Amino acid sequence: MSGAKTPLIKCPICKKDVPFDGPNMPFCSDRCRIIDLGNWASEKYVISSPATDGELEKESGEIE
Ligand SMILES: [Zn+2]
Repeated sequence: MSGAKTPLIKCPICKKDVPFDGPNMPFCSDRCRIIDLGNWASEKYVISSPATDGELEKESGEIE
């Protein structure tokens, strides 16, 4: 059992130890945060490719 130190978390991008109260939490640096943002952006881009738009229109047409 060690004393009360600042807890460490792992940077989700590079797996470095990051102090829990770090300025770029939960990332070790601004760079890793931007990389993560880029990951999210590209995921959203894939999700928002509208294959469902056509399906929705078809369904509402059938209801009428
Ligand atoms: Zn990092």
